[in-house]
Amino acid sequence: MYFTAGATWVQAHRKDLKIGYTYTYMDTPQNTLLAPHTSLAVGGPAKHLSICTTTDSLVAALVAAQDRQLWLLGYGANSLVSDDGLPGTTILVRTTNISQEDNSATIIADAGVWWDDLVQFAVARNLWGLEFMSAIPGSVGAAIIGNIAAYGQAVADTLSWVEVFDRQHNNVYRLPASHIEFGYRHSSFQQKDSDHLVIVRAAFTLQPSPTKDLEYQAALDVVEEKQYDIATLNGRRQAILETRRRSGSLWDWRHPDHYLHTAGSFFRNPVVSDEAVEQLLAYEERDRTAAMIRKMNQIHGGSGKRVSAAHVLLAAGFHRGQSWGAVRLHPDHILKLENTGDASAQQIYNVAMEITRTVKAKLGIDIVPEVRFLGRFKENA
Ligand SMILES: Cc1cc2nc3c(=O)[nH]c(=O)nc-3n(C[C@H](O)[C@H](O)[C@H](O)COP(=O)(O)OP(=O)(O)OC[C@H]3O[C@@H](n4cnc5c(N)ncnc54)[C@H](O)[C@@H]3O)c2cc1C
Repeated sequence: MYFTAGATWVQAHRKDLKIGYTYTYMDTPQNTLLAPHTSLAVGGPAKHLSICTTTDSLVAALVAAQDRQLWLLGYGANSLVSDDGLPGTTILVRTTNISQEDNSATIIADAGVWWDDLVQFAVARNLWGLEFMSAIPGSVGAAIIGNIAAYGQAVADTLSWVEVFDRQHNNVYRLPASHIEFGYRHSSFQQKDSDHLVIVRAAFTLQPSPTKDLEYQAALDVVEEKQYDIATLNGRRQAILETRRRSGSLWDWRHPDHYLHTAGSFFRNPVVSDEAVEQLLAYEERDRTAAMIRKMNQIHGGSGKRVSAAHVLLAAGFHRGQSWGAVRLHPDHILKLENTGDASAQQIYNVAMEITRTVKAKLGIDIVPEVRFLGRFKENA
């Protein structure tokens, strides 16, 4: 049981979706390369690739792919796609509708909506609750799968319900958010038993006034320097955009080459023992105090024992800017694995595995990728 105990599926069948009808979705020629559809700019060909811009077409493509292996991508900002490509059908979920429910504080968005379009939609309507997550790259659907978070806000804080297409029964259900388990970069959709569920739409219930204070030090430094008015939604959004710009945390699918080729933080922040927390703090190279770092870690991970994976990598002997051919640890932000040129997916995978093994061998800590690996990778290649 991966959804909370006692949960029953709410059978809110979408009457407006005409399941079984043929809607047009865009099928690209066989073996279209996936690299241009990922932020790491790697990935081989998709055997069949469908690009779906309406929910009806998404459902039609899902029904058509019923007997095939299925891969989903929003904007590929959290995926490492194999150089061998993906067999079966790959669907790019690029649905676009956003609406406000009856002038209320609830916003409904299709799974393919670019996350920041949703944030901007909320900010324009003076609704609070998403603004700290401004400019996180990717789709609404993947945001829920990964429970994305930044600067103290997470998707799970405001999510109200999710509609899913169930590949086992070819129908659409609505799941209240309370029936979905969420944790740090985790939702129950990530469990193997849920891989027949495709998110098609979701609702977020926001607030007419601030829900949280901005506490993240790097963002507060930007606020002070630029004199942003963080009593306003726009001021907060500007502060976050500038903070993200400075940390190389921006990426936009419409202009992928204007940005670094990364997938954001490659590894999740691990939970470690109290003793290890103290030892790892010693690897801080900047002027931040232990108290500041603990607070940052809590804002990112919600638990005192969750430490920044950046400190773990430093403690294991890796350094900022370290490179293996065209794969590099970002010169400032060691957690971002960058493709600086013509790296292959396998090379990025090899570096990730080398880091994981070294950290385990030297520190006894298990670090787990936040990035999703799609397709086949060779071990020790
Ligand atoms: C520069 C940069 C900065 C980042 N900063 C942050 C940050 O601050 N905070 C944070 O949390 N993350 C961050 N990330 C990670 C990334 O933005 C998120 O993980 C985002 O949710 C990825 O969205 P996507 O649509 O591109 O996902 P994709 O890579 O396309 O997909 C991710 C996973 O979701 C699955 N999936 C996609 N759509 C659906 C669907 N409709 N139904 C079911 N499964 C689906 C895919 O199969 C895949 O397994 C950053 C990434 C980059 C490149």
